[in-house]
Amino acid sequence: MAIKTIITEPNKILRQKSRPVETVGEEERKLMDDMLDTMYQANGIGLAAIQIGIAKRIIVMDISKDEKKKNPMYFVNPKIKNKHSENFTYEEGCLSVPNYFAEIDRPKKCEVEYLDYNGQKQMLIAEGLLSTCIQHELDHLEGILFIDYLSKLKKTMIIKKLSKHKDRPDRIIV
Ligand code: ZN
Repeated sequence: MAIKTIITEPNKILRQKSRPVETVGEEERKLMDDMLDTMYQANGIGLAAIQIGIAKRIIVMDISKDEKKKNPMYFVNPKIKNKHSENFTYEEGCLSVPNYFAEIDRPKKCEVEYLDYNGQKQMLIAEGLLSTCIQHELDHLEGILFIDYLSKLKKTMIIKKLSKHKDRPDRIIV
């Protein structure tokens, strides 16, 4: 297992649409292990493969917020089948948009169809935080970030601030 670098906004990789996984094999399981390690290390509750630069429709999550009782969840090729009409508001953050939070409305309940860690087809009815988190991560697979739901002015301001504070590892000072 390995910790990977999480890509932060602005970066056009985050805007890519991820492609479906054909089979869940060793390579995909290793990727999921690395993603989970990376997510725990960054204190996140969800991570999409594109956030570490891999455009595959893979998500890992753990909303248990409990060090002792970890509850990792793996979603390959997730698809939302039914969205509840009632909304739920949650203050969202994102490992790719560090230090910014905003209240976002999303359907309170949804049904998700996906392949698990072993490539088995599964169905899950998600509610509350789990529903919010799955929808947030699924957006990543489409190249959408939560800041896209904010006003243009607010979004521009956040991106501007993020670019200002961005580390520039590619910069060489001699
Ligand atoms: Zn995110």
